Amino acid sequence: MVKLIFKEDNLSMKDRTFGIIKPDAVSKNLIGAVLKRIEDEGLKIVAMKMIRMTKAQAKGFYKVHEGKPFYESVTDFMSSGPCVVMVLEGDDAVKKYRAIMGATNYKEAKEGTIRHIYATDIEKNIVHGSDSRENAEFEIGYFFNALEMKGD
Ligand code: GDP
Repeated sequence: MVKLIFKEDNLSMKDRTFGIIKPDAVSKNLIGAVLKRIEDEGLKIVAMKMIRMTKAQAKGFYKVHEGKPFYESVTDFMSSGPCVVMVLEGDDAVKKYRAIMGATNYKEAKEGTIRHIYATDIEKNIVHGSDSRENAEFEIGYFFNALEMKGD
């Protein structure tokens, strides 16, 4: 019989989500402010790096939005400068990080959320966060390999 040596680890693994500190936030020196909000809310940063996406990589990342009027523009923006990609861990991480970020449109974002405080544009809205566990796994795999993930 095959022994499922990783079964227990998988079951006990906390929820993970994927986030980006977008190029507008990096250019405004907001990396530290965003990370502080995330850490203050109790999410753990378990992987992180600064990258600059090519247009093709940005298009692959936002493939779900292909065909939408803002697809070209948002992928130009996402490849316009460096950004910080990260994996966050914690209880109910996907939902929790979405709540910390606030609504896509900063005008609708609740007070105290990252987008409410820092965003000035529906497109250049400071941060990205996965909207489901399934998408989080895809997005983590898009940017990180197993060696880059902190294991403890
Ligand atoms: P998110 O999950 O809250 O980031 O929002 P979506 O998945 O709906 O959209 C992805 C990203 O595309 C957003 O974060 C914005 O940067 C951009 N975006 C969304 N809606 C619009 C829009 O109506 N106009 C423009 N210009 N950009 C948009």
